[in-house]
Amino acid sequence: MHPCRRCGACCSAFRVSFYWGEADDAYGLVPAGLTVQVGRHLRAMVGTDRSPPRCGALLGDVGEAVACSIYENRSSTCRAFHPAWEDGIPNPECDRARTRHGLEPLTPETWRRRKPAA
Ligand code: SF4
Ligand code: SF4
Repeated sequence: MHPCRRCGACCSAFRVSFYWGEADDAYGLVPAGLTVQVGRHLRAMVGTDRSPPRCGALLGDVGEAVACSIYENRSSTCRAFHPAWEDGIPNPECDRARTRHGLEPLTPETWRRRKPAA
């Protein structure tokens, strides 16, 4: 299983904001009802503007089994966030989110151990 499917920490650690036009009541795909205005030009995923943050689109339990209920329509911010070392590139924000939720940071070994999907 992909490590993100057992994680979800980054969806429950930061404010996830993006240009307001990405919402589906403007020019984009992100369901507007799951967003809140957080600035003149920015919206955020509802729930990520609170403390502790948790995206309103996140299903499941962080660190166990999760899914994004709007995966195909998620914002550019979510699309740009990559798990650490997936393509050999570190991501300190991924590490920080996982640490916040008591999960070990991913390592290059995480991906070497991963079996190809059947
Ligand atoms: S929209 Fe999906 S990928 Fe983005 S923060 Fe929410 S649950 Fe995570
Ligand atoms: S914190 Fe990292 S491993 Fe966890 S869901 Fe986000 S990108 Fe994936």
